[in-house]
Amino acid sequence: MGEGMLAHIAKNLHMIGITQITQEVNKKGKINSEETTKKVIRAFLEIIQQKLSQGENINFKSYFTLKRGATKPKGSKHCGKHEKALADYKQANKGKGITAFAKSPKFKNLVNETRKCKDCQKHKQQLAKSVKLVNRISFKPSKQF
Ligand SMILES: [Zn+2]
Repeated sequence: MGEGMLAHIAKNLHMIGITQITQEVNKKGKINSEETTKKVIRAFLEIIQQKLSQGENINFKSYFTLKRGATKPKGSKHCGKHEKALADYKQANKGKGITAFAKSPKFKNLVNETRKCKDCQKHKQQLAKSVKLVNRISFKPSKQF
């Protein structure tokens, strides 16, 4: 193992925390009060924690996105009748692609019908209820990161 590699590992072992971030934010933001900066940072972290635990995702545009993990929805979002109608339509128009679907009056009618259908609405609600939050947060850096 080369020296560069060791330095790299040593660097990765080092982790900074609230104290160092507070000092740097205080300096960079020219706040002139570590106490005030710390209050703001603590409040900021508490809000983020609270939002994530409520299942909200957070997007800090041009920085990063934090997403609360959730299970995949289970079941269909349509009632049996409309599930079949949509499947039949798709089977009959195989290979035409989504743009052809969007232009088709028949398909549009079908979609409108499902929106008004009470059974479809029930299925959608059940689908939403089947999603459970899991104890995992994903971090996605933005392109400018
Ligand atoms: Zn329906």
